[in-house]
Amino acid sequence: NVVTRFAPSPTGFLHIGSARTALFNWLYARHHGGKFLLRIEDTDRDRSTNEAIKAIIEGLKWLELDWDDNIIFQFARAARHQEAAHALVAQGKAYYCFCTPQELEEMREKARAEGRQPRYNGYWRDRSPHEAPSGVCPVIRLKVPEEGETIIQDLVQGEIRVQNAQLDDMVLLRADQTPTYMLAVVVDDYEMNISHVIRGDDHLTNTFRQLQIYEAMGWNSPLFSHIPLIHGEDGAKLSKRHGALGVEAYRDMGFVPEAMCNYLLRLGWGHGDDEIISRTQAVEWFDIKDVGRSASRFDMAKLTSVNAHYVRERNDEDLVRLVTPILQKISDVELTELLNKRLLRGMSGLKQRARTLQELAENALFLIHSRPLPLDEKAQKILADSEVASLLRQVLNILQTLPEWEEKNLEEALRTLAESLQIKMGALAQPLRAALTGQSISPGIFDVMITLGREESLERIQDVLK
Ligand code: GLU
Repeated sequence: NVVTRFAPSPTGFLHIGSARTALFNWLYARHHGGKFLLRIEDTDRDRSTNEAIKAIIEGLKWLELDWDDNIIFQFARAARHQEAAHALVAQGKAYYCFCTPQELEEMREKARAEGRQPRYNGYWRDRSPHEAPSGVCPVIRLKVPEEGETIIQDLVQGEIRVQNAQLDDMVLLRADQTPTYMLAVVVDDYEMNISHVIRGDDHLTNTFRQLQIYEAMGWNSPLFSHIPLIHGEDGAKLSKRHGALGVEAYRDMGFVPEAMCNYLLRLGWGHGDDEIISRTQAVEWFDIKDVGRSASRFDMAKLTSVNAHYVRERNDEDLVRLVTPILQKISDVELTELLNKRLLRGMSGLKQRARTLQELAENALFLIHSRPLPLDEKAQKILADSEVASLLRQVLNILQTLPEWEEKNLEEALRTLAESLQIKMGALAQPLRAALTGQSISPGIFDVMITLGREESLERIQDVLK
């Protein structure tokens, strides 16, 4: 039975590396008809915040990565972690260590002076707590075997070994009785029946230690998959400078969640040369063994082009709903019912040209702008031409007498006019576009006229003739 989990520490937003980890875990569980659990690792009380918890939950919801069962808050399980540590002491597999912070610091100093990795020297490993100095609260450390090796059979990285002699006796329970990350993760993964741990390869060294805890507990460990981290376009580890932002920042830039998921999926996982992979296909095809071993590079241009695809795929009603809050931010025009209808009518043409919802909103502005329409520089230039006014006057005359405001009639009328004036359609459409949209680029001119409707179109032409 496949059970995966996403186990973020709520110390910041849900950044895209974590979002990809969540996505892989979600896909793996859904592919196998298993469970995907959410565990908030809030044991670090100083660094965990409610805002971060909220950002993580909202980020997952936005990406539509739904989890099964209730959210597990790790801190609430602290008693269970303590119990597990004490049980190991009782079995002689862990022990109380009474070293003071000064003593530990001296140990580290000594190691540094001798050019060794600082490590705990095992002082209390075979000593009895009766020898303990009074007034020192002990930590509990795991008795790591001094010989042999610990082996990770990683589903992505293959077999990785470390000599046990290289690992010191790690702390399981701190002096204040709080569990360390190592202990809490193992106890929780075990008790939540996690079958597969899929996480960033920055956790590889933790995995050796966690395997030793499993071993001491006598528990079977889950299978591990350590996925390579995401790097920036320059090959360096992804940082804020590269756009390692929270997913909500991408939402605010106008990316749609299905594009985000598709792009993150392709970062490090592939199905042939397919770039556009739907959610259904992803669930069907996803397998850990197809995750690559090398770091992937975050590519904003690629994400943007994937986003353009999914914007076009969205239905028009959806898009109106999505651009409305953006329009309200970038314009103070009140979105009346009339304007909403207009947006809806124009959406099929507009969405062909927008790569993000932000662009879509900007491109849609001309539709809702109250008259007189502001003209951009190019539009002003087009309309400044001396011939243009007379041309537009003739257009106006014809359009005013047009019996029906339909794409077919509009096209025929303007074509006839262009022919009689012996000019190209473009020479006519360009000033018309400038007058109707205030821009030199827009959806098809007939589409624009239909979207604006007769009255608004005629008035906009009259405005530039004044
Ligand atoms: N809480 C850890 C983190 O956010 C992840 C733990 C895990 O996946 O094992 O880095």
